Amino acid sequence: MHPPPDIAGFLRPGTLGEAVRLLSESLAAPIAGGTDLLPRRQGGRTGAAGKTLVDITGLGLNNIRETQDEILLGAATEVNALVSCPVFSSSPYNIMAQAALAHSTLTLRNRATLGGNLCNASPHADLALPLLALDALAGIEGPRGPRTLDLAEFFLGPHCTALEPSELLVEIRIPRIGEDCGAHFTKLTRQHTAVDMAVVNVATRISIKDGICTSARIALGSVGPVPFRAKKAEALLETRALDREALTAAALMAAGEASPLDDIRATAAYRKKMIPVLVRDSLEKSLAKSLKRRAE
Ligand SMILES: Cc1cc2nc3c(=O)[nH]c(=O)nc-3n(C[C@H](O)[C@H](O)[C@H](O)COP(=O)(O)OP(=O)(O)OC[C@H]3O[C@@H](n4cnc5c(N)ncnc54)[C@H](O)[C@@H]3O)c2cc1C
Repeated sequence: MHPPPDIAGFLRPGTLGEAVRLLSESLAAPIAGGTDLLPRRQGGRTGAAGKTLVDITGLGLNNIRETQDEILLGAATEVNALVSCPVFSSSPYNIMAQAALAHSTLTLRNRATLGGNLCNASPHADLALPLLALDALAGIEGPRGPRTLDLAEFFLGPHCTALEPSELLVEIRIPRIGEDCGAHFTKLTRQHTAVDMAVVNVATRISIKDGICTSARIALGSVGPVPFRAKKAEALLETRALDREALTAAALMAAGEASPLDDIRATAAYRKKMIPVLVRDSLEKSLAKSLKRRAE
């Protein structure tokens, strides 16, 4: 394959160690599906121009595995694989499949990867939200060896992550969560086309035991510089019975934690108004699923 003229070269290492070495020894950037990197390069808004691209799709990072304690997702897993994977067919993990299905088109999903979606660190990244709501961890490999990071600490700013320049995201780890959980994902778009990035995207998760909320997660996207958890709103829900007032108060608190901007899809004011509506609805659905699971 001949790289585009503004790209210095295109390398396809066969092992993770080789990929890390290439990234640390040369002016290089990793490429997976290329669906973010290549269009942004043409727009002149990325650091890929002038660099050698290191293709990470041949490193054996395209897989989904399960252990007793975790679901393990290779960073180069295509988004479409998440839609049909049996492990994501039931609550609370099915929010992964819902978010994957809300991502672009079938053609693009067959190319775009989970790791690329996270490492691009767009505030709109659909897959970040269910993973934040499911307390996922990021498995990272670099010249100094492996390390693990809470995904909530991975996003530092728009198109900026906690990865060092020569590090690769290799795996996402989702811990097994109690069976009493309910979760929901919602994506509000402007034109309802398959290639619409979100105006607001939300994932929530609730666990109920003996009528009391034992844990709550509210992850918000497209309404701040990075996808994030609305932790003050979560705290309003935890250790109490969840009535209408509690859900409404948490939804309003979540809106208070957001700092949306105007862009081509929506104004900041519209986004701010929609957050409590979407969060409240998502919390209600998560709660209903949690109660249903306990009744089963
Ligand atoms: C028409 C269109 C529609 C889209 N619709 C959506 C949508 O609905 N929702 C959505 O969330 N996104 C959407 N996107 C954005 C994009 O498709 C996704 O973010 C995709 O998942 C990126 O994956 P990729 O493998 O193509 O990443 P790449 O473009 O290969 O890489 C993206 C960035 O991450 C880095 N990178 C990739 N993998 C790794 C790794 N393992 N370790 C370290 N760094 C890495 C690259 O260096 C690059 O900076 C859309 C894009 C297009 C062009």
